[in-house]
Amino acid sequence: MNVPAPLTNLKIQYTKIFINNEWHNSVSGKKFPVINPATEEKICDVEEGDKEDVDKAVKAARQAFQIGSPWRTMDASERGRLLNKLADLMERDRLLLATMESLNGGKVYSSAYMLDLGVSVTTIRYYASWTDKIQGRTIPIDGKFFSYTRHEPVGVCGQILPWNFPLVTLVVKMAPALCCGNTVVVKPAEQTPLTTLYLASLIKEAGFPPGVVNIVPGYGPTAGAAISSHMDVDKVSFTGSTEVGLLIKQAAGKTNLKRVTLELGGKSPCIVFADADLDNAVESAHHGVFFHQGQCCIAASRLFVEESIYNEFVRRSVERAKKYTLGNPLNPGVQQGPQIDKEQYNKIIDLIESGKKEGAKLECGGGPWGDKGYFIQPTVFSDVTDDMRIAKEEIFGPVQQIMKFKTIDEVIKRANNTHYGLAAGVFTKDLDKALTVSSALQAGTVWVNCYGGGSCQAPFGGFKMSGNGREMGEYALHEYIEVKTVTVKISEKNS
Ligand code: NAP
Ligand code: MG
Repeated sequence: MNVPAPLTNLKIQYTKIFINNEWHNSVSGKKFPVINPATEEKICDVEEGDKEDVDKAVKAARQAFQIGSPWRTMDASERGRLLNKLADLMERDRLLLATMESLNGGKVYSSAYMLDLGVSVTTIRYYASWTDKIQGRTIPIDGKFFSYTRHEPVGVCGQILPWNFPLVTLVVKMAPALCCGNTVVVKPAEQTPLTTLYLASLIKEAGFPPGVVNIVPGYGPTAGAAISSHMDVDKVSFTGSTEVGLLIKQAAGKTNLKRVTLELGGKSPCIVFADADLDNAVESAHHGVFFHQGQCCIAASRLFVEESIYNEFVRRSVERAKKYTLGNPLNPGVQQGPQIDKEQYNKIIDLIESGKKEGAKLECGGGPWGDKGYFIQPTVFSDVTDDMRIAKEEIFGPVQQIMKFKTIDEVIKRANNTHYGLAAGVFTKDLDKALTVSSALQAGTVWVNCYGGGSCQAPFGGFKMSGNGREMGEYALHEYIEVKTVTVKISEKNS
């Protein structure tokens, strides 16, 4: 596909709170700045939602969910038509959305255009085709009864988003929720509200009834916490840090026991056996950790390489990492943009410094890049041991850790020796080894001889402290459905 040049005259039209298909100022009158991470310049100010604004949004979402409302009485197939219409509008505005995603999130523009917009549109269409295929069952219970299940929407769903994939995570949460007939209250990450707000305008244009989708930009501890602790929110779905994931679950536990799904962090192992196709393994492991400046929950940030190929693997990985062109992600040819903000930048620099201090060998990079923007050099560490901070903590930056292993049993134990369990990779030409290792790894996704490819048809989520529940695929529908059993007394039953 040809990627057109990004827009040069992008105007930010939507900066307010979206409730009932209308734009609102914040109740407090406060706004917050949105920053371009490549230049550190302000793009615009956005209305800062807080508890009162969340209350308004939840009321609108509840109203839209009432029995007899346009949304509740709509044919399921019509929900599908609306979702497809939304996908059409996103395709129409693909250039604008990709430019905005790159400007606001520091995302390499071509990647925003191809991947973020591509995945978002495909995901919406996937769930659009599910709307009229969500079915209950009739069940032959004992006695003279007719018993059946209804798969009903859960209700008002809170959705709290991260900044690394603003549009994709919005769609991955919103599309299955709407597919099943729920209403939503979304809080985008403070750093990246712009494409979410633009999408709100498309929701309205597509013809979704007022109150079905509501968007409250604002901060986590205020607007986010107001959603997770709201007594009238039935379910919350969150993507972000494990630390905040714990808070979300506690908030649900302290209030109305709302259902919770969590997509959290990872420290994903990638295991390369000596018999692997080396070119493929080096390239895949490289992209596995460096893609989007390392800001991916699935980052292959613990790379285990078998002893006999270790030195060659490190040599090739360093050569690969040095090939990067850094710069403004809207410029052609740039392969790595900035980290999202100063806080993340400082966290990554701190972890790089810890790696140096704790005795890992710095092979390349190891510091900031450029004189403005939150750029960090692609960094590779070898001779990394499992006890180092860089081998244990989620870095969320362009930093590769290469460890050495000797035996299959040893590497399985070491790979699983973490509280995380999001993803893993294994590279080998031996099918038996691939199957043994992929069944032993404690991870929601295992890639064999590839790394990082996801798809809207396949479920995604974490074992252990990487999360609860699954997103995408048919599995995600279960997270947005309540199963109701209806049993009717009848006068006579026949088989
Ligand atoms: P974060 O705080 O977990 O942010 C994720 C979302 O949760 C944001 O919308 C955030 O709002 C909100 N939030 C924060 N505190 C909250 C609270 N008490 N109640 C409800 N919502 C709350 O992530 P971060 O601080 O931006 O990044 C920290 C680390 O998280 C990263 O270094 C990385 O390790 C991890 N992370 C993981 C993913 C992922 O894809 N799994 C994505 C992003 C970050 P604000 O916008 O105000 O923060
Ligand atoms: Mg935060």
